[in-house]
Amino acid sequence: MPDTRPKPLPAVDALSKPFWDAAQQHRLVLQRCTACGYFNHPPRLACDACQSQQLDFEPVSGRGRIYSFTVMHQPNIVGFEDEIPYLNILVELEEQAKLFMVCDLPLADRDTVKIGGLVEVWFEDVNAEISLPRFRLA
Ligand SMILES: [Zn+2]
Repeated sequence: MPDTRPKPLPAVDALSKPFWDAAQQHRLVLQRCTACGYFNHPPRLACDACQSQQLDFEPVSGRGRIYSFTVMHQPNIVGFEDEIPYLNILVELEEQAKLFMVCDLPLADRDTVKIGGLVEVWFEDVNAEISLPRFRLA
């Protein structure tokens, strides 16, 4: 039997709390710079584009395209040992070039997953406090 450990839960801190609070309500919000409009993800102390510290959170569509993907065969990520093999996708959200989120997909999607393929967000309620934004093929 493989060593099965629980999947890790996010460590919610002051910087990421607005993201996780919104996810709990099944809303995807990302940190956006109010000075230049650039989305930063994960949240930062200063904007990646202009270094401003005027940062807020703004709802996004939850739609994007698969920028890249891979099939995971190695049990490198704690908690995913029993799911090998599975797909790991890099999602580029439609709001901004190179605005990325990472997600796993079931191997059953292997025949339909493709670079450029459309995805949409959904939320997995892990417990009373944490809902994880995840993606599925659209
Ligand atoms: Zn900025």
